[in-house]
Amino acid sequence: MSRPSKIVCIGLNYAKHAAEFGNPIPKEPLIFLKPPSSLVGPGEAIVIPKGVGQVDYEGEIGVRIGKRARHVTKERSWDFVDGLLAINDVTARDLQKADGQWSRAKGFDTFCPAGAVTPLAQVDRKALSVTTRVNGKVRQQMGADDMVFDIPAIIAHVSRIMTLEPGDLIATGTPSGVGPLSPGDVVEVEIGSVGSISNPVVAES
Ligand code: ZN
Repeated sequence: MSRPSKIVCIGLNYAKHAAEFGNPIPKEPLIFLKPPSSLVGPGEAIVIPKGVGQVDYEGEIGVRIGKRARHVTKERSWDFVDGLLAINDVTARDLQKADGQWSRAKGFDTFCPAGAVTPLAQVDRKALSVTTRVNGKVRQQMGADDMVFDIPAIIAHVSRIMTLEPGDLIATGTPSGVGPLSPGDVVEVEIGSVGSISNPVVAES
């Protein structure tokens, strides 16, 4: 996959995930960025840095932009998408809580595993779901109908703030059931009707 100009992420976009952290549901999509340097592909290791405390998986539906998008309406938003993919928004949870700002907690190298893109024409958009497994055990499982803001609403919102370029990725938020990763684990994010990504977890050497 060519490197995107940016990875836009949505926070607290599933009601049950907001509740598990005691947060209210946002009135508008809450956005943050992960750096392109955090990307890794299928089978590449997620490296847990030294001294960061707890590191969590966050399985998410990923969107790849196919056409430059600026001030896009919800109705036209899918025209600017070339496909969907599985993304793991790996997060250093203790740093996220300590910093308030999320760039450090979400921005380490290897903290954005991203799977192969399935062309939109091959995706059943009504069957989208997120399943995350750690060492084969299901930890997250939810349908996209539980999202607070759906994909068209997210694209419309983000494209009013920043121009989305071809290749840019959007991670659309994680359902409830987030939890920690440890060296030696294998974490898999599967997006229903799209595909999956699996990565081993290692400690920084
Ligand atoms: Zn996330």
